[in-house]
Amino acid sequence: MRLFVALEIPPGVRESLGEFLAVLRALSSQPRWVRTDNLHITLKFIGEVLPEKLGDIRAALSAVHSDRAVTLDFRGVGFFPNEKRPRVFWADVEASLNLGQLAGDIDSALEKLGVPPEKRPFSPHLTLARFEPPGLPEKLRAVIQENARREFGSVAAREFHLIESKLKPGGAEYTTLETFPFVVAEV
Ligand code: ATP
Ligand code: MG
Repeated sequence: MRLFVALEIPPGVRESLGEFLAVLRALSSQPRWVRTDNLHITLKFIGEVLPEKLGDIRAALSAVHSDRAVTLDFRGVGFFPNEKRPRVFWADVEASLNLGQLAGDIDSALEKLGVPPEKRPFSPHLTLARFEPPGLPEKLRAVIQENARREFGSVAAREFHLIESKLKPGGAEYTTLETFPFVVAEV
């Protein structure tokens, strides 16, 4: 099974991103837009594991905590690696410092179970579209530039989720396997 750990986004932020994506989608079927229902913030991509490992993974994740909620501000959009030859179109996520700590703790907890650790520093973002091949359709450029600082809302997150991903021709299908409240004691 293919697994990852993610934060969900609240309905208001999802609606606001959905409205923006609907405008862009109507302009161009390229890039490959993420379905509004599928929008999430990945904390850790686990990848393929044997179902027998699920119990250990759940136990490891339930031991990861933070002493307060993670605050997230969704503002602005951009491209990875750059606008010239974009591969990913994302919404920027400004997060409280404990989010990086949380992602690092999840990474270490899973490394003990043999999941390869991240080599790159954690950089929170919300993937909105993927370019295959890289390249921005001209009709999108101006609209995206006008919305470069657009606000989508904010949230205080207190739980993360273990999600199974089934890759399908029409796009990945996600199923939440378990939800982990991570705040032990709020200050
Ligand atoms: P598709 O691959 O069909 O575009 P998807 O990317 O939404 O769909 P998955 O590939 O299963 O579905 O990925 C699940 C989540 O993990 C996504 O947020 C994705 O960006 C992230 N992810 C996938 N592969 C990696 C990887 N090698 N390293 C880091 N994150 C990854
Ligand atoms: Mg993928």
